[in-house]
Amino acid sequence: MSCLGSWKEMPIATLIPEPGNSVKYKTGSWRAGFKPVIDHSKCVKCLMCWIYCPEPAIVRKEDDSVEINYDYCKGCGICAKVCPRGAIQMVPER
Ligand code: SF4
Ligand code: SF4
Repeated sequence: MSCLGSWKEMPIATLIPEPGNSVKYKTGSWRAGFKPVIDHSKCVKCLMCWIYCPEPAIVRKEDDSVEINYDYCKGCGICAKVCPRGAIQMVPER
């Protein structure tokens, strides 16, 4: 047995009592040096980034174009990974 003991001894944490509650928290403060930037000339409005973003950080406009709300973007890079056109680059912030 590891020094942590049984998983049953671990304290309860990270409860998600209702869906979509991350909108209450400015998860953008979690970014550690890189932020996604969209090249709109490459974007084909497929919305893959909007579907896969784990935060409410990709804003879908009426015409299906997308913008990033950096108040909620935690810099995970998933949007850049899933974009089929390479339209999103993770760039250093500082
Ligand atoms: S890096 Fe992309 S996928 Fe990750 S939180 Fe920011 S906008 Fe969403
Ligand atoms: S995944 Fe890429 S091409 Fe698709 S909407 Fe997002 S930025 Fe545009």
